[in-house]
Amino acid sequence: MKPEPIILRKDHIFEKCPNCGVVGKLRHSRPKNLLENISKLGIWDYFRCRECGWRGKRISISLKSISIKTILFYLFLMLATAVIVRFVIQKFAMK
Ligand SMILES: [Zn+2]
Repeated sequence: MKPEPIILRKDHIFEKCPNCGVVGKLRHSRPKNLLENISKLGIWDYFRCRECGWRGKRISISLKSISIKTILFYLFLMLATAVIVRFVIQKFAMK
């Protein structure tokens, strides 16, 4: 089974415009200057509404909800690793 990614890229093209509320009119817009280019950082994307002309940035990644079971599994894994590492260090460093 292939593990599913926790961080997903989000595309706002089919979402509602925050200004006029029309669905499906957002289009990608290039960063206009260096500041916008730097501030993107792979987290933001700039969009323009073809209906009303609104332009702004929208967050372009979304975190997948992680189940409690997965979190508990990783916590258990961390604790088990810590116990094993401590045991190994005591076994070899205390000679
Ligand atoms: Zn709009």
